[in-house]
Amino acid sequence: MLRGLGIALLVLLAGAVFLWRSLLPPAPLAVPDRGAVLERVTLVQPGEGRRADRRVVIEGARIDEIGPATGTDELAGAFALPGLIDMHVHFPPDSGLRQSEIHTFLFLLHGVTSVRDAGDADGTSSRTPREGVREGRFPGPRSFACGPLVDGPRTRWPNSRVVADAAEAETVVAEIAEAGWDCVKVYDDLTPETLDAIQAAARRRGLPVIGHVPRRVEFEAARLDDVQHLTGVPNPAGNLEPFPEVLATWRRFGAERAARIEAASLRDGVAHTPTLVTLERAFAFRDYEALRTSDEAALLPRFYADVVWSPVEGMPFLRTRDERQYRLLEDAFRAGARFVGRLHRAGVAIHAGTDTQIAFLIPGAALHREVRILADAAGLGAEAALAAATTVPGRSLPLEGLGRLAEGAPADLALFERDPTRDLDALETLVAVVADGRLYRRAELDAQLARYRDYYGGAVFDTVSKFVARRMLASVFADFEAGSGEP
Ligand SMILES: [Zn+2]
Repeated sequence: MLRGLGIALLVLLAGAVFLWRSLLPPAPLAVPDRGAVLERVTLVQPGEGRRADRRVVIEGARIDEIGPATGTDELAGAFALPGLIDMHVHFPPDSGLRQSEIHTFLFLLHGVTSVRDAGDADGTSSRTPREGVREGRFPGPRSFACGPLVDGPRTRWPNSRVVADAAEAETVVAEIAEAGWDCVKVYDDLTPETLDAIQAAARRRGLPVIGHVPRRVEFEAARLDDVQHLTGVPNPAGNLEPFPEVLATWRRFGAERAARIEAASLRDGVAHTPTLVTLERAFAFRDYEALRTSDEAALLPRFYADVVWSPVEGMPFLRTRDERQYRLLEDAFRAGARFVGRLHRAGVAIHAGTDTQIAFLIPGAALHREVRILADAAGLGAEAALAAATTVPGRSLPLEGLGRLAEGAPADLALFERDPTRDLDALETLVAVVADGRLYRRAELDAQLARYRDYYGGAVFDTVSKFVARRMLASVFADFEAGSGEP
């Protein structure tokens, strides 16, 4: 009797261990020690030029020496760009399913070595990827993160700090600075007065202010360091129409307003992170099935494509739209891309960013897509589009030498078999990536991707992760007003 019970308990325990193990991802790819020597590589600094047959010595987290090649090795002949930078990402909630380390891995797989985390919408998503990578627990890009969103009383995201008057601005910005965040992310519901107070408080602490031009603030008055998604560009202050209806202003965006926005951006040193890929994905939702079954979607577990990004039960702003709204999104994309080209030609800093976590914006893959859009639809060409993902954003992030291939600069490099500045198809030929001085070869990255895919395919994981995803959606979006914009 007792023996029977003992066996039953053992079987139960074994079953529980099996279930638990199938829920957790495989161990992360081992994080190698820092330091490497690259022989006979062509250094490509997008927007500036090339140096062939170089030897690069990486010591610790820095590029120690660049000189003429003295030998050869298996990466000889590669084209080395500065590691790519995605200037607008969001990470998944820290759910216990350890999705953060899969996201950081996917960035690396695509040569992305730095990201700017543009807001922690649920309050759990930013710390784990930032600290996990920094402490060497799992591989990934370094993360410059804004922490909570800063908004007015009618905020939409759970992890927002509400600023209703100037005194509150001081308290909230102090909290963000003391928590060690790298930027202040402002949002739609601020007023001219509260935004001014936030800007002043942030300036005193040396923190850049990025985000949405609030709906009741005129573009010229906002003077953000970095405007996200072209907010405030076509729509005048006071237009509170919901997304995507607000985008109809792109159809009325004329020469006079374009000239004013361009002049204000130049005068106040405003950079733009247009995240055009976000709009492109929004109208690609016409064919959700094609997105759902794409190779790109298969880089993440199925619960993203099937649940989180489902037009029926997913994030509320993805709910099925009619053809009129799809045309609105498509027109906004084309007009926005044209205007980004104009800003670039005028000398305004353009940053490549993506809004990962929003529909079918897969870490790393979405940045490659944004670079292509900047090159083609916005007309920057391949080299300037890659500069928007390396050289240009590197200047505005708080790490000396970031985005540069120079002695003393951070050792962040993306190595390709062919030169992507000549042809963007070469972005698919990554052979190695160096992140913060640590070298990862393509074969190791591919082997790890295969392990992740086996894990995604497990029936227990698939069922449980979809259940968890539905619970998370319900909690994050419990108070979400219909018709809102992206984070
Ligand atoms: Zn965002």
